[in-house]
Amino acid sequence: MDVLPAITSQTAEELKIRFQEWNQPGYRLSQLLDWLYVQRVTDWDAMSNLPRALREKLRTNYSLYPIVLLRKQGARDTTQKFLWRLTDHSLVESVLIPANPALYGEPSDRHTLCVSTQVGCAYGCKFCASGLVGLKRNLGVEEIVEQVLAIERDASKKESSVEGGRAERDMSDSFSSSQNLNVDTRALNSRLISNLVIMGMGEPLANYDNLMKALAILNAPWGGRIGARKITISTSGLVPQIRKLAEEPLQFRLAISLHGATDEVRNKIMPVNRKFPLRELTAACEFYAQKRGRKITFEYILIGGVNDGLEQVKPLALLARRLDAKVNLIPYNQVEGLRWKRPDPHQQESFFLALQKEKVNVTLRREKGHDIDAACGQLRLRTEKELSHLQAPQ
Ligand code: SAH
Ligand code: SF4
Repeated sequence: MDVLPAITSQTAEELKIRFQEWNQPGYRLSQLLDWLYVQRVTDWDAMSNLPRALREKLRTNYSLYPIVLLRKQGARDTTQKFLWRLTDHSLVESVLIPANPALYGEPSDRHTLCVSTQVGCAYGCKFCASGLVGLKRNLGVEEIVEQVLAIERDASKKESSVEGGRAERDMSDSFSSSQNLNVDTRALNSRLISNLVIMGMGEPLANYDNLMKALAILNAPWGGRIGARKITISTSGLVPQIRKLAEEPLQFRLAISLHGATDEVRNKIMPVNRKFPLRELTAACEFYAQKRGRKITFEYILIGGVNDGLEQVKPLALLARRLDAKVNLIPYNQVEGLRWKRPDPHQQESFFLALQKEKVNVTLRREKGHDIDAACGQLRLRTEKELSHLQAPQ
């Protein structure tokens, strides 16, 4: 049987052509898009103002709702992790972060969502849980788009928080149950997610075309309505794609996973640096910054004894000043089975202060709760281990 294209992988322009072929008036498309991106329904039959015949045509030509929530960790108003099962049973995760980490439990209505772009990753950074398993496949356009829609759907339900535990359920039930719960449709229509960071599992720029199309849908006024300037793409340093991104019509923000200010350090932990060494990477960053007229961010994970020595401060400051880049220091999240360690808080602070002294625009992530806050890839890794344990012959 042929696999139907997912409706959320289609742009309004593509659907418009389809609707014209089907002799549908223009307002039918607006109704469909409203069901998909405002009401976020998961069932063709819920699209009650579309004629039955059109719903049948849609059903036989497109699939709907390609990801299912398998596990959710964390409570509302703190960082939450969502583990999704895709139609081929692959697992990917997204992380939802409140704008003001609500340490004291106050509600936050603005959130940043960190989404995945691949199942696994081919780039094999030595410290990373996603790199450990290699690349399984790229995510489709709809699998990227749906991470946003499904979380907004989940948040609009009354009973949304699952404290630190598991939420094993099939979300295909969620629309009817939210109807039963008499969900406030204004809440349903409001946008929970104001910022997107493409920093989940996978190397986003290695899934370039699907990512660009998904972001166009998530940015569109008829779609996700998230401003391009509120979308940050993180890359380990794929030089040709950084140059290509600089020419895109949409102005995304760019973050570079630097993690080392010399080729010597980078080569130790990031195999991608052998293909695109720092000289080429920084030239591409310069090109991007010039074309876009906006600052880029260097992500710098602090890993004990690897890149946290104070001798690294000078080369890092030189690079950051040359590119007028902001440096984001992130204490390493330890990954089960890997030997890398997070430096102690004193060492983190010294590194931060030394960079400040070098007149670098730098931040250090200090907040607590790292077990949930851990980098993307880790929940999937743990769940896969648990599942394989469960499935292993006794
Ligand atoms: N592949 C892209 C985006 C996904 S990784 C990239 O590498 O930029 C998102 C960020 O998490 C990257 O900066 C990555 O280096 C970082 N990261 C990976 N594993 C981590 C860990 N265990 N602790 C802290 N940050 C980690
Ligand atoms: Fe891939 Fe990014 Fe992890 Fe490196 S850090 S292995 S590029 S996901």
